[in-house]
Amino acid sequence: MSRPTMPPALPTAPPAALPPGLPPLPDLSALNAADLAGFVQQLAGIYEHSPWIAERAWAQRPTGGYSSLAALKVALAAVVREASEAEQLGLIRAHPELAGKAMVARTLTAESTNEQTTSGLTHCSPEEFATLQRLNADYNARFGWPFILAVRGPRGDGLTRQQIIDTFARRLGGTPAFERAECLRNIHRIAEIRLNDRFGFDPVLGRQVWDCAERLARRPDGRWVSDPGFAEAGQLTVTYGTAAHQACQQQLLLWMHECGFDEVRIDAVGNVVGLYRGEDPTAPRLLTGSHFDTVRNGGRYDGRLGIFVPLVAVRALWQAGRRLPFDLEVVAFAEEEGQRFAATFLGSSALTGQFNPAWLTQTDAQGIPLAQAMREVGLPGTMAAIAAEARDPTRYRGFVEVHIEQGPVLNQLDLPLGVVSAINGSRRFTGEVLGTACHAGTTPMDRRHDAALAVAELALAVEARARRTPEAVGTVGILEVPGGSINVVPGRCRFSLDLRAPQNSARDAMVDEAMAQLRTICERRGVSFQLTETMSAAAAPSDGALQAHWAAAVQALGLPAFTLPSGAGHDAMKLHEVMPQAMLFVRGGNAGISHNPLETVTADDGDLAVRAFLQLLARLATS
Ligand SMILES: [Zn+2]
Repeated sequence: MSRPTMPPALPTAPPAALPPGLPPLPDLSALNAADLAGFVQQLAGIYEHSPWIAERAWAQRPTGGYSSLAALKVALAAVVREASEAEQLGLIRAHPELAGKAMVARTLTAESTNEQTTSGLTHCSPEEFATLQRLNADYNARFGWPFILAVRGPRGDGLTRQQIIDTFARRLGGTPAFERAECLRNIHRIAEIRLNDRFGFDPVLGRQVWDCAERLARRPDGRWVSDPGFAEAGQLTVTYGTAAHQACQQQLLLWMHECGFDEVRIDAVGNVVGLYRGEDPTAPRLLTGSHFDTVRNGGRYDGRLGIFVPLVAVRALWQAGRRLPFDLEVVAFAEEEGQRFAATFLGSSALTGQFNPAWLTQTDAQGIPLAQAMREVGLPGTMAAIAAEARDPTRYRGFVEVHIEQGPVLNQLDLPLGVVSAINGSRRFTGEVLGTACHAGTTPMDRRHDAALAVAELALAVEARARRTPEAVGTVGILEVPGGSINVVPGRCRFSLDLRAPQNSARDAMVDEAMAQLRTICERRGVSFQLTETMSAAAAPSDGALQAHWAAAVQALGLPAFTLPSGAGHDAMKLHEVMPQAMLFVRGGNAGISHNPLETVTADDGDLAVRAFLQLLARLATS
């Protein structure tokens, strides 16, 4: 069985996506020089009918004023976050309904008219209009305030009417507390785009990132770059060695060429490697990158964002004719998620020299061994070729990785970027408690040996323990009663345990306590248990110097250097084994959801990520 080794090259990205030069940031000197009245006047209409937000932002302005538009946006959001619940609801209620009476009667503010027109809401079909009216009524009845959506969307140029209706219908199912917060976040996004318009700022670099994510997921004709079965369903799934995976490699190769990389190649495990030569070829290199494979029905940014950001940054450097003192090596890792083969981190393991030879004989669901899958796509599929990819760590300054947060923290704090302090170490267990199955009607409560209640107690104990440990998490994700029945006291309960913390010591202390709790609970309940450790991954604390450079890079944009641990594993965790590493997180929209098609990043946050990356490079160049 053989397939063509490489698919034909894909069409070039639209030229509009890659403009010259690094666009300047807006000048806020007039705003910063203004008195209270002038400041409020200059920000009139940014937050709908709510001048108190600008008033408080003026009162809280830092000495010397707001250093950037991004700093102003964060400050305005903070004013709203610290306001009373009544003030927040007042702000939400100051907004018009989407395609509502105010739009029909033409009584919207100029800003709202612009947004509702851009998204095409003024051109609804009668059916769409009727659907929106029904959703408006249902939403208002359920929550007591109007549905708020930033209809200009993550790129800033407008969601489609169908996207708006779909989002509306989905959010109708939310809880009031979540919806209130989500409405406020959408109000901040509306304000962000209004501020961009007001101050003449266009997040060009971020739109390049956004367009790359769209283009790597979908061809210009709308077909998905996705594995068979998923492409037809409009779902993004790219697993190792498939045709979609090869198409991604080819697109990334092409983009690296276009962005000005000097050397571009596909390595022995299928990573796409680009080298942007520096002035001194002997200076230790900087390594960066992330993965382009996805989980099943995944998002467009997980991993891929950490490839696009350095690509756009290199393009900006190359177009400006600038070289760094050191080589910059960008690796688009072929595999991180472990979807087709059981092994994970195939891409980064090759670089660290820890690619396990036994992986080559692992088979996928069709029984194809990894080595054969490699040969089918034109790779050698031999250990000798893979081992030759191992990098000499002494030749590197370190590894940095930009990644979407994949969690709710930055989103809830209204912060676009976060500096990662450590990738949490984790330990996983699977276990089973054995009690006595007996009649639910005839067995008195004090004569029972309920296996499920023992696990339930363990789950609560794990929750309490993890809550007491800073930045730790503990989860009983599986809790099942095999063959359970409504009228039978559970005699068996299978469960899992997943404990993570930024330091191995904290993680291990949680494990020890969970074990002790389990023993005590089982003894008291007269049940027995068995437990097997299935995984143990060491914590990967960020390198102090690189983390400080990220923090300074974020601060240079006017943003606070908020620090958080990574709860998920990343390629940086593998590179950590051989060289210093530090990561930058980018806020995800839709409450930070990931491994899900709703995963999203705004062009503005993408723009900040590219600028932070360029700042990091500039700092490394001079230190
Ligand atoms: Zn990832």
